Amino acid sequence: MEQFDVVIVGGGSAGLAALKHLSSKGIQSVLMEAGSTVGTKNVSGGILYSKNPQTGKVYNVDEIFENFLQEKPWERQITKYILNCVSKDKVLSIDLTDSHEYQSNFGCSVLLNKLNSWFAKQSLEVAERNGGGIVNGVHVRNISWDEEKGKTIIQTDELDDFEAKAIIASDGVNSEVAEITGARKKFSPPELYQGVKVVVKLPEEIIEERFDLSPGEGTAHIFAGDVTLGHIGGGFLYTNIDSLSAGVVYHYDSLISNPMGPNNLVNALLNNPFVKEYIKDEVALEPYPDKSLSKMEQLRIKFAVNKLIKRWEKLRFEYYSHEGKKRFLDDKEFNSIEDVKSKMDAIHKELLEKYNTRFETDYVELEYSTKLIPDGKRCRMKKPYIKNILFIGDAAGRGLFIGPRIEGLNVGIDDAVRASNAIKQALEKNNLDVASNYLGELYSQSVQESPYTMDMERIDKYYIKTIIDTAGKQIPSQKIGKYRLLFRLFQNDKLRNISIDIVNKIGYNNMLSLIESEETYIHTPINIAAKLGTKTISEYSLSIPELSQRISNLSYNDDPQSHIKIINPRSEFMKKMVTLCPTKCYSLEGEDVVLQHEGCIECGTCSPETEWRHPRGEKGIQYKYG
Ligand SMILES: Cc1cc2nc3c(=O)[nH]c(=O)nc-3n(C[C@H](O)[C@H](O)[C@H](O)COP(=O)(O)OP(=O)(O)OC[C@H]3O[C@@H](n4cnc5c(N)ncnc54)[C@H](O)[C@@H]3O)c2cc1C
Ligand code: SF4
Repeated sequence: MEQFDVVIVGGGSAGLAALKHLSSKGIQSVLMEAGSTVGTKNVSGGILYSKNPQTGKVYNVDEIFENFLQEKPWERQITKYILNCVSKDKVLSIDLTDSHEYQSNFGCSVLLNKLNSWFAKQSLEVAERNGGGIVNGVHVRNISWDEEKGKTIIQTDELDDFEAKAIIASDGVNSEVAEITGARKKFSPPELYQGVKVVVKLPEEIIEERFDLSPGEGTAHIFAGDVTLGHIGGGFLYTNIDSLSAGVVYHYDSLISNPMGPNNLVNALLNNPFVKEYIKDEVALEPYPDKSLSKMEQLRIKFAVNKLIKRWEKLRFEYYSHEGKKRFLDDKEFNSIEDVKSKMDAIHKELLEKYNTRFETDYVELEYSTKLIPDGKRCRMKKPYIKNILFIGDAAGRGLFIGPRIEGLNVGIDDAVRASNAIKQALEKNNLDVASNYLGELYSQSVQESPYTMDMERIDKYYIKTIIDTAGKQIPSQKIGKYRLLFRLFQNDKLRNISIDIVNKIGYNNMLSLIESEETYIHTPINIAAKLGTKTISEYSLSIPELSQRISNLSYNDDPQSHIKIINPRSEFMKKMVTLCPTKCYSLEGEDVVLQHEGCIECGTCSPETEWRHPRGEKGIQYKYG
């Protein structure tokens, strides 16, 4: 039986950081990823931070991947961070850039397929030097220990069994490794959020003009108030290079008590007039064929129009991009940028006048995705290991979601380094004996020392101060009625510190339901926006794709072997799943909930009451953007 030093299960950003760090320390490491290629199974909002805490050390992406800043596998560096309180068409925008920059080196928007593919390339080079690597399309099915022979055996759906001296489980929020080995219970709805996201296409320079950005710079907007349709959580709109990530993140409990189709929740954000104005673009619509013409002629026109629209869209996207402009001239396709513009305008005219093509204001959706997110404040594993398996990132339940602070990617990377360092030390001491817990305890202790763990356990006074100070300058407190007193209290250094101390004494955990309440996420933002907000008018209507259209636009490799089994088809939870599954994979037949399954995009929402597994290697959803 083949043996490796370390096996990493799951090639998200956490697992890939572990592969890079272990390999750069000369340790043979092999990463197994269920997706057909790295990146196709991962979803984020997302902003990836590099942090610089005042006390303690975190391990950042730019430290682990040395070329990160030069090669720029991200989208834009976020230089503006704005909280929008929303009430119907009124919005009060509060600039929270100071809080985004709090103890940060930088934060950049990312699309996970691109980011993780780059991580994979960087890691693979180093891993192969040590006899390791990445094996795609492999789904780890089981892990067991032969205590007598001191062996740890890994079984997959695709390969022969093999052994490892140590394992890093980076298999995400629905970690099967955790379940198989009994390391932790499945996360329950109060411990989770559901994230739903769409990627919207928009040319680079239009993004820069609309969001008032210099090349390479980006903005993050987050949303609270009535866009949430009464749920606890909020929305986001982040700028990428030539697309926007728009999505919502809601407490799972809040969704259970007020079930609503997740696609409708993201639609509510898209339909907000303020958001609509940011996502709009000029879209060409194919004309209806002239039925008086022969079938052949109709077909010929259809092809011609289609080709012209594609050409116009491509030219336009390149024309409105910095790289595109350079490429036109480098390739000598055009003599000048003015020539590109003239060509574009000529095609536009031809489409309009010769072929009756309509040009409308609309938005263009590229991808719909969903995923569960663990709330580290509630569900991080207190003991993130079992025997010689160390859990990192979402698999260990370590997301950091505190008001406007949304972090999971950086936390997973920090965990990855801590796990790798622990393995290196245990290998050097030749102490990977599963009975001794030496490795697990080393890692546990290191994770406990991470400033991120501290952030999940206590409220940071200085962080709150940054938010209150910046918000206080922008919200005239005499105008916010009954919240004035509370606001004043928090603006006073001494009183704020005392109240935060009291909360931390009572136990931050015990206060969470009060802190993350309808009052804070819904009613207060609505009131503030209604009183102080500015009206936005947006007069076009969005052609939001139907859910079935969204699903059929995704790349999908269906697995005839079901990866989800309903435990109790009559449970109240499963009945709610008929609404809460973001792709409507469930339906009610008589008294029983039945899984249809065609559209499952592996979000995990139904996992608490199903036997939930990822599909076999290479099967299932393949995100292009993530
Ligand atoms: C809508 C949304 C918005 C978010 N916004 C942000 C943000 O702005 N900033 C931020 O920092 N974080 C954000 N997050 C959280 C962040 O995306 C996650 O914390 C992070 O992606 C988790 O990475 P991971 O490597 O731990 O797990 P994952 O990315 O889930 O990777 C797990 C991998 O393991 C593989 N796998 C699973 N089981 C097996 C198996 N048995 N065998 C082989 N392979 C397996 C999967 O295919 C997958 O590739 C957001 C998340 C969502 C959904
Ligand atoms: S069936 Fe698939 S898409 Fe639906 S909730 Fe379950 S994991 Fe998500």
